[in-house]
This record gives sequence, C-alpha cells and structure tokens, in this order.
Amino acid sequence: MSHLKDKVAIITGAARGIGFSIAELFAKAEATVIILDISTELINAAVEKLESVSSTTICGFSADVTDEDRIGEIFKQIIQQYGKIDILINNAGITKDGLLMKMKISDWDAVLNVNLKGTFICTQKVSRLMLKQRHGVIINMASIIGIMGNAGQANYAASKGGIIAFTKSAAKEFASRNVRVNAIAPGFIKTDMTAALSDEIMAKYSDLIPMKRMGNPEDVANLCLFLASDSASYITGQTITIDGGMYM
Ligand code: NAP
Repeated sequence: MSHLKDKVAIITGAARGIGFSIAELFAKAEATVIILDISTELINAAVEKLESVSSTTICGFSADVTDEDRIGEIFKQIIQQYGKIDILINNAGITKDGLLMKMKISDWDAVLNVNLKGTFICTQKVSRLMLKQRHGVIINMASIIGIMGNAGQANYAASKGGIIAFTKSAAKEFASRNVRVNAIAPGFIKTDMTAALSDEIMAKYSDLIPMKRMGNPEDVANLCLFLASDSASYITGQTITIDGGMYM
C-alpha cells in the first residue's frame, strides 16, 4: 500500500486511540509520519510500535497542542528536516462531561482550549507553508456530538460544532491554493475515551446505532486515509460522519 508515498504527515493526539490508528495506517501507506502527544513516555512507545509495522520514517514529539510557541518550534523543525508538510490531522481531543448547570468554567475552558483552540493553532502554524507550497490537506476530528448535541456534553459539543464551522471557513480561505480542509465526525468508537462510559450508557447508545455496534479506530483511519489521499482531491469543506448510521 503506497497511497501516501513521499508525503509528510503530522498527526496530533496520536500516542493512542484513533490518532494512533491513523498513524499506523499512514505508516503502512508509506508516509513519513510525525506524531505529537502530551506524554513523552507514550509517544516513545508509540514510535517504537509504528517502527515495528513499517520501514517508513517515524518521528515523535511530546507537545501540548494549546502551546503555541512549542507547536511553532516543532513545525519549524519538521520543515527544516523534511522540507515540507503535506498533511495535518488535528485529532487531539478531550472530554470533561457534566450537566451545563453545574459545569465548572475550568472544564468548559479546558475542552474548548484543547479541541478548538488547539485545532486553530496547529492549522495556523501549517497554513503559511501549505499556501506557499500550493498544496496540502488538513483533516479536523469533529464528532457527531458537534452536529446532534448531547446532554452532559455542552462543552464538547460546542468545541466539535466549532471545529465544523472552522473547517468550512478554512476551506474557503485555502481552496484557491489547493489546500483542502475537511472534518470527520465519528460516532461511538472503541477507545480509552469511550471505555470510561458505563455499560448502561453504552447499551443505550448501541440501541441508537442502526448498525448495532461501536466503530473501531481503524474505521476512522480508513476514512482519514481516503480524505488525505489524492483520491479525494476535489473534496473540501466537508464533514463526513462515520457512525454506523447513528446520525442521518
Ligand atoms: P483518546 O483515546 O483519549 O486519545 C486522545 C489522545 O490525545 C490522547 O493520547 C491524549 O493524551 C491526547 N491529547 C489530549 N490532550 C492533548 C493536548 N492538549 N495536546 C496533545 N495531545 C493531547 O481519544 P480518541 O477516542 O482516540 O479520540 C481522538 C479524537 O477523536 C478526539 O478529538 C475525540 O474528540 C474524537 N472523537 C472520538 C470519538 C470516540 O468515540 N472515541 C467519537 C467522536 C470523536 P492524554 O492521554 O495525555 O490526555
């Protein structure tokens, strides 16, 4: 599989979960894969795992996507080393759920900062280069919760809805320079993020999914590979749901 041969791809929040699956598939597709995540220990372990499945170049950085200076430094280093950035996947995300009447301002701020501001910071940092290159692909990880809303997730829903609107605006700004920006809106995917949900809540959600099962991180990675590849060269500004039919 060489769909991404010679492409340089950055994936945020890629030490585990959906981000790791994307990194693994991109490595198999022969991209140079650069992964970012908070924990140095987890990033080093992820780089080691990726190196065991592919002989492509893998590189890891520990970074918080909300740290503008650190992200700027890392992206500069990547450009110096590899000469270009073809693909950015803004995947890092967190939840801090609670009913909005009782939601702490700090929980609102934390979720909006990582999910929405982090996406803005990383996009802004690659945009100058991608516009100059006259090519690039940016994929933002939204959620069906950003389309449907969800009781107990006002902060998360606002951040993901914001990502969808942000994606459309960036797509409009960048389209004439051949830089495509799309969003993916997963439903319920088996990762540590959803493992925290109780069996009762999971059973309730499964009932709402026409396909009667949760998705796997690999399902999302496959969609991401398509959107990042030249097969999707006329698709921009879109939000593609991947949810077993939960939202239609
Ligand atoms: P996950 O298993 O919790 O993985 C997320 C990764 O992002 C973690 O390694 C986390 O590191 C990292 N991260 C968190 N804050 C960060 C920051 N400020 N800077 C850099 N990295 C950071 O989550 P997931 O389920 O794979 O979700 C990935 C993305 O898909 C998220 O944007 C999520 O909202 C979205 N999504 C997930 C689902 C689902 O059902 N799983 C559904 C819809 C959308 P730490 O462990 O150190 O926090």
